[in-house]
Amino acid sequence: MKISNKEKTKEKIQATPEVTIDKVPEWPLGLSLSGSEPIRVSIAEDLAVILTKDAFEQLFCWAYATPLEISCLGSVHRQGNRFFIEKFYLLKQSGSFAGTELDEDAIAEFMEQLMTEGKGDEVQRIKCWGHSHPDMDVFWSTTDDDTCRLLVNDYLISICVSNNFAIRCRIDIASTLPITFDHVPVLCQIPEDKLPMKKYAEEVKNAVSERVFSFVKRLDVQSQKQDENTLEFYCEYCGNFHAEGDCPFMDTGQCIDMFDNNDGMF
Ligand SMILES: [Zn+2]
Ligand SMILES: [Zn+2]
Repeated sequence: MKISNKEKTKEKIQATPEVTIDKVPEWPLGLSLSGSEPIRVSIAEDLAVILTKDAFEQLFCWAYATPLEISCLGSVHRQGNRFFIEKFYLLKQSGSFAGTELDEDAIAEFMEQLMTEGKGDEVQRIKCWGHSHPDMDVFWSTTDDDTCRLLVNDYLISICVSNNFAIRCRIDIASTLPITFDHVPVLCQIPEDKLPMKKYAEEVKNAVSERVFSFVKRLDVQSQKQDENTLEFYCEYCGNFHAEGDCPFMDTGQCIDMFDNNDGMF
């Protein structure tokens, strides 16, 4: 038996229908006044990070000495847009197969030690963080991103190394608008004064002579006089050096014809 409940029906009729709002679109940010050109960032083209021989050795040898990830701090000497990593310091740390953690206490202790040794300048130069990714690619994990943001207070050069001397470098800038430059070129320094140029220059001098366009005495057909300064050119047709128009394999008429024929092609 069906009993209608008059009260309930009345309630339903009087109830204001619930308005469901599916999705409120984002309010427009504003009316665009500028063009649609993407943001352009300019950076010094000679920007590079240079590892000294010591730093190169330390970084890769420490990395290859263990299957665990390692972290180290480096001191930076800046020359214009070139950032030289002078040396690295290996601090107390705990490393795993896929993670490295620099002990904050160890960092503080290390900085203090430098200060007590009167190396306040060196403390200022600790602006590089190096770490390894054994048997992995060189990339920045979210933990790496966090570490970079944690360590940067002016600028921070971060270097990630892996098998087969794989290397990746980034520079983070601490500013109101955080900036990261990734894939910064890394060079391994070759000491200039160690290049034994004198020895090799002597060898080159003895073995290599310069092939130049030479001046030849050429008989002018019309005047029967010898022209003293006729320049020889390399000729593609006969493969020899000779004065213009002196090619034994091609007469001038033929030459003009050839170029005329090629006209349509270009
Ligand atoms: Zn990493
Ligand atoms: Zn020729």
